[in-house]
Amino acid sequence: MRAVIMHSPGDVHVEDVPDPTIVKPTDAVIRLAASCICGSDLWPYRGVVQPNHQAMGHEYVGVVEEAGADVRTLTPGDFVVGSFMASCGECEICRSGFPSRCARRGRDGINGMQAQYARVPLADGTLVKVPGQPNAAAVRGLLAASDVLGTGWFGAVAAQAGPGKTVAVVGDGAVGLLAVLAARDLGSERVIAMSRHADRQELARYYGATDIVEERGDEGVAAIKDLTDGHGAHSVVEAVGTQESFLQAVHATRPGGHMGFVGLGHEVRIPGLELFNAQIHMLGGPAPVRNYLPDLIDRILAGSMDPGRVFDLTLPLNDAAEGYRAMDERRATKVMLTV
Ligand SMILES: [Zn+2]
Ligand SMILES: [Zn+2]
Repeated sequence: MRAVIMHSPGDVHVEDVPDPTIVKPTDAVIRLAASCICGSDLWPYRGVVQPNHQAMGHEYVGVVEEAGADVRTLTPGDFVVGSFMASCGECEICRSGFPSRCARRGRDGINGMQAQYARVPLADGTLVKVPGQPNAAAVRGLLAASDVLGTGWFGAVAAQAGPGKTVAVVGDGAVGLLAVLAARDLGSERVIAMSRHADRQELARYYGATDIVEERGDEGVAAIKDLTDGHGAHSVVEAVGTQESFLQAVHATRPGGHMGFVGLGHEVRIPGLELFNAQIHMLGGPAPVRNYLPDLIDRILAGSMDPGRVFDLTLPLNDAAEGYRAMDERRATKVMLTV
């Protein structure tokens, strides 16, 4: 089969590799319908972390090709969407609401989804069956649910977005834009998108942003305070993962407010005194997307949300290298790969 392999920073190729097989009886093998390139795939692409001839991709929708002997809920032909983290759904951590940190997963991860076929561990817990065979528009939305929508949703939930709340979203990538959507769908009164790109501001408004703040850093924080009687936002979603954006989010949250951080942070350091004095609630990390999938699938199939609009470039799998270049050069926000 064909699969995307990253050999070293910037060196991405679509190659022939062996087809995946069932390794454990709880595995399924799926035939991908679509996959996509994640902002986090740019970390190895740019050499921030070192890639090692690795299979790429963790966002996916597809059809069950083969189910292991212990898989109870899925049969070949089922259309499925799953989280970017495998989870059993039964252990104490999964049941407490954090399948993204499943205690039974061990070293079994989700990877190699930028390919024609892929192995999914803990298939019963990880995958959610979608009723019927979705049309092309629904496939785009469901693909977004696999990571960027689920992650934006978690960011908004962690920040306790909801009725009566003013929510600020730091970051205008796909996750930030879908955190705007999530904050509005959760009933927030006001949603402030922090963005300095006209096309992304337009999409943020489409998803329900009521205000746009273009400033960053201390100026961005001052702009948020100007909009909130000097207090800061009730809820702030951090969807970038840099030092500047993280501190911007901490400082933009009012005392007693909530911050959800979903940007994959590298080398972020928070001075202890600033954290102490901020006096805010914080929850973040890898999003427990699996929790939200049944609800998000219903909303997408009902047509009540359109998260697939974040994909502004669609390429065939064989052109994945161009997709990486386009995202690296910021010519595209989010690239969908059709298989
Ligand atoms: Zn991702
Ligand atoms: Zn578990």
